[in-house]
Amino acid sequence: MKTISLLGATGSIGLNTLKIVRTHPQAFKVAALAARRSAKELYAQAVEFRPKLVCLYEDQGAAWLEKKLKPLGIRVVTGPEGLLAASTLKEAELVVCAVVGAVGLAPLFAAVRAGKDAAIANKEPLVMAGRLLLKEAARSGAAILPVDSEHSALWQCLEGHKPETVKKLILTSSGGPFRIRKTDFKSIKPAEALKHPRWKMGPKITIDSATMMNKGLEVIEAVNLFGVAPDRVDVLVHPESIVHGLVEFVDGSQLAHLGITDMRLPIQYALSYPGRLNNHLPSLDLASLSRLHFEEPNRKNFPCLELGFEAARLGGTHPAVLNAANETAVESFLNHEIRFTDIPEVIGKTMRAHTSAEASSLPAVMAADAWARETSRALIEKRRSPKK
Ligand code: MG
Repeated sequence: MKTISLLGATGSIGLNTLKIVRTHPQAFKVAALAARRSAKELYAQAVEFRPKLVCLYEDQGAAWLEKKLKPLGIRVVTGPEGLLAASTLKEAELVVCAVVGAVGLAPLFAAVRAGKDAAIANKEPLVMAGRLLLKEAARSGAAILPVDSEHSALWQCLEGHKPETVKKLILTSSGGPFRIRKTDFKSIKPAEALKHPRWKMGPKITIDSATMMNKGLEVIEAVNLFGVAPDRVDVLVHPESIVHGLVEFVDGSQLAHLGITDMRLPIQYALSYPGRLNNHLPSLDLASLSRLHFEEPNRKNFPCLELGFEAARLGGTHPAVLNAANETAVESFLNHEIRFTDIPEVIGKTMRAHTSAEASSLPAVMAADAWARETSRALIEKRRSPKK
């Protein structure tokens, strides 16, 4: 029986995690649930899973939640301290980190420092401070368990192989909604970009998928997580999203991970690791698919991909800067403030303005994050200003 603290309980990763817990009550127990602002949903989850602690990050609704949960003996906390309390709760052995944005970083580090295994579903920790996080984990004995489907795939292919036998890691990408689009990227509206052909995800990651920044971030994630040089990571567009990742070894052999496009697969593997559990998901039926397609990514139409490689090569605080500038740019795009093609431009300009420092501590990383948010915001304001 593994006891879990779930940060980001009402998002798509959180809901899928709870589906797995529901399917395997003998294997998993929930000790803490945290969500940003869905008080009602969190209440229903708390009634079903009976955690010790519930964190509602934004205060609104917390008093109501507290009144409802107190009779059940469930403590309600809020804000950054509340999230920290949820991630470091004594009973929790495994923390599932699936909160959107950089807000999950401090609670995750605290959990890893306390020796708790961490299943990481959001990209920020591994992108911004991946090497630092792995160092902490090595010190405390915590396991870092990737949930991102491509990294879960690579992790499974790498299992049991010596690092020096690995030649290349290959991340696959669906190509997003604009894979076959040839022109007029400038006119892409948020509503169009929010329609993803394969995966149903939150708005931020769906836009990242449309710009292919998602893959750029995943390149950094892979570099940090598996300790390989950026030039040993490749991206391969594979619209069917059946092959999630491949590893090429020095002898030329490639191992691939295949599975249906359902996030419950990588989540469940992170939860059950090093074991595997049965489930009721349909089998992958290759005969009915009959064909799988692969192609090179179009680096001209998707400059965000190259920005990801660039940040990985520069290292230090550059990945944190890339990540923060991207968050600002995506938000502005969703608010109709900038165009689709402005997203890479804002990020590139912010990166070029940055003097890299070593990502030697969490405060150093957070300072770079804050600097990049401010700088990218100023760039966006300047574009919008009529005086310009
Ligand atoms: Mg992914």
